Amino acid sequence: MFPSVLPTYNRADVAFVRGEGAYLFAEDGKRYLDFGAGVAVNAFGHANPKLIAALSEQANRLWHTSNLYRVPGQESLAKKLVEHTFADTMFFTNSGAEACECAFKMARRYHYVSGHPERFHIITFTGAFHGRTLAGIAAGGQEKYLEGFGPKVQGFDQVAPNDLKALEAAITPATAALMIEPIQGEGGLQPMAPEFLRALRRICDAHGMLLIFDEIQCGVGRTGKFFAYEGLGVTPDIMCVAKGIGGGFPLGACLATAEAAKGMTPGTHGSTYGGNPLGMAVGNAAIDMVLAPGFLEHVQTVGSYMRQQLAGLIAEHPSVFEELRGQGLMLGLKMRVPNTDFVTAARKHGLLIIGAGDNVVRLLPPLIVTEDQVRDAIKLLSDAAAEFDTAKKTVAA
Ligand SMILES: *Cc1c(COP(=O)(O)O)cnc(C)c1O
Repeated sequence: MFPSVLPTYNRADVAFVRGEGAYLFAEDGKRYLDFGAGVAVNAFGHANPKLIAALSEQANRLWHTSNLYRVPGQESLAKKLVEHTFADTMFFTNSGAEACECAFKMARRYHYVSGHPERFHIITFTGAFHGRTLAGIAAGGQEKYLEGFGPKVQGFDQVAPNDLKALEAAITPATAALMIEPIQGEGGLQPMAPEFLRALRRICDAHGMLLIFDEIQCGVGRTGKFFAYEGLGVTPDIMCVAKGIGGGFPLGACLATAEAAKGMTPGTHGSTYGGNPLGMAVGNAAIDMVLAPGFLEHVQTVGSYMRQQLAGLIAEHPSVFEELRGQGLMLGLKMRVPNTDFVTAARKHGLLIIGAGDNVVRLLPPLIVTEDQVRDAIKLLSDAAAEFDTAKKTVAA
C-alpha cells in the first residue's frame, strides 16, 4: 500500500510528543538532547515560554485578516529588522524557499525597471541550497534535487565558491545578481572566505549586480552575530531569512535595500499567509529575545566552549572525525565514517544531530543551550564515536 504521507523523506523511526528547552521526549518516554533544533529552527528551545505567550495571546485575539489590510505585527517586526540590519524594507513569507523566491523575483525586477529586462541570470555557488521550489532547485544546482523535474528553470548559473577567476568568467551582460550562503548549511557547513565575500561585493558594484545573501540557516543569532554578514564586513542588497526567526512557527522574510526593492510595486508579488498575525506575533517575540542584552554574547560564549570541546573530541577519535567547521552554534564535524551511520548511532545514545553534504554532521543546538548541555552532548558524541573507533581497536590488538 502506498504510504498515506508522501514518502519524500528518509525518516528515522522516532516520534516526539513533547519538548522542553534543549530536550525532546519521544512517544516511549525516552529523552533526547536536541542538537539539531529542527535544522536550526528552534533557536529558543522547545516550548519557549515567551513564544508560547506571544502565540497564545495572538491566537485568542485574531488569526488572519489578509494582506488586503494593514497588519500591525508586520509593521512592528519590519521596523525592528530595519533598525538592526542593512535593510530598508522586507516581504514576509511562510518559509525559506519563499524568501528565496522573492529574492529571485526582486533581483530580476530590479533590472527590468532599470531598463534591462535581459539581465535575469543569477549566479550561485556549488554546494548551495536555496530551497525546493523549481527556481530554488535551479539555484541550488544539485543534480539529485533537479533530476526528473523537467527543464531546469532558466537563468541560474553556477560556479565553485572561492574561485574569482571562474566567477568573472561566468558573468555576462545577462547577469543580474550573485547569491550565496555566507556559511553553507546543507552543503556541509562550509564557511565562505570573508575576503571572497568582500570580493563578491566589489564585483557586484563594478557590474551593477545585486548581492543576495541566503541567511536562512546562518542568520538570527546562529553565528553569534544577529546576522552573519555583520561579522564579515560585507553588506548584501537582499537577504533571505527564515528558520530561526519563527523559532518553530513557519516564518520567513526577504529583506532588501530600498534601491534593490525598487521594482516591487503593488501587484508584483503576494502571499495569502505571508506575514500572518500569528507568525508576526511569534517573530516579534523571537527578535526581541535575540536582541535582548546578553543573548548573542551567550551564543558566542557557549559556541567557543563547544568548539573547544569538539576539538578535544576530534583529538580523541581521529579515525572517526576529520575536522571541525563552522561558527558560533553552527558547527559541523567532517566525518571519516559515514555521517548517516553516525547520526543514527548518536540518536541511539540520546543525541539528535543532523547530516549534511560532504559527509558532515551538523551540530545546531538551540541558541539557549547551556555549557552543561554541551558537555553532555560531547559525552554522547564520544560514546557514539567509540562504536566506530578503529584506532582504539588497533591499539588494543
Ligand atoms: C532551509 C533552507 C532553505 C529553505 O527553507 P525552507 O523553509 O525549507 O523552504 C533555503 N536556504 C537555506 C540556506 C536553508 O538552510
